[in-house]
Order: sequence, then structure tokens, then C-alpha cells
Amino acid sequence: MTKSPIKRINHLAIVVNDIDEALTFWRDALGLELEQMQEVESQAAKIAILPVQDSEIELVEPITEDSGLKRFIEKRGPGIHHICLEVDDIEAMLERLKTKNVRLINDTPQADGIPGRKFAFIHPKSTFGVLVELYQILEE
Ligand code: ZN
Repeated sequence: MTKSPIKRINHLAIVVNDIDEALTFWRDALGLELEQMQEVESQAAKIAILPVQDSEIELVEPITEDSGLKRFIEKRGPGIHHICLEVDDIEAMLERLKTKNVRLINDTPQADGIPGRKFAFIHPKSTFGVLVELYQILEE
């Protein structure tokens, strides 16, 4: 059996208008633990992380008026924004996808998000409708 290049679903990101309001469901009603909340300037977002076993739910709130995230929520309303798959080797995965003519939003791994990880987004046109993020967690 060949080993899957995908390790796990790292997180599922849900875009919301107001994280504090969304926490009344995700934390208070469901009972998930809020592990951390931070503003990520490069993503123009405030992000709340709620672990579920070895995956996470991420609540994402746009913090500027002119980001892709803000446009997303204005056009479609709150809801699932992207699914993040964790890989061992993000460069190898991007090369693999390029050879299969998959449309990428990021041709090369980005490192300006949450520290300790590299990421790249795959265009929803190539994934049957879902924005997919790839993550590689870097060794400490
Ligand atoms: Zn993400």
C-alpha cells in the first residue's frame, strides 16, 4: 500500500462576521475549547483556534474592508471558507499538482501566516468548488 501524501485534515476554516458572536455557538453551545485567538495581519484576519482531537476548527473574521476574505463574506455570507490538508512536503505536493495541471493560487509555499508553518492555496476551480489550503508544519 502506498502512503498517502496527506497526513490529516489540519483545520476547517469558517468565515464569520464576528468571532465573539460565533463563539457563543462553537465554544459555549458545542463546548469546544478556545485555544488561541490572534490577529494575522498578512491574512487581514482575526483567527480563533478551537481544537477537535488532532484537527482544528478555525473561526476567521476579516479585519480590513478590502481583503479577499471580506469580499468572500460579502458575496456568499458566513460559512465554510476553506479546508486545510497537512502534508509532509509542501514543495513536493505543489510540484505534483503542477504536473497534473491543477490551478494554484500560490505557486510557491508562503510563510507569512501563523509561525511554524508553510502554506499554499489551491484554486477552487480545480478542487470542485472548495478552497483548499496545504500546510506543512515546520520542525521546531
Ligand atoms: Zn487555513
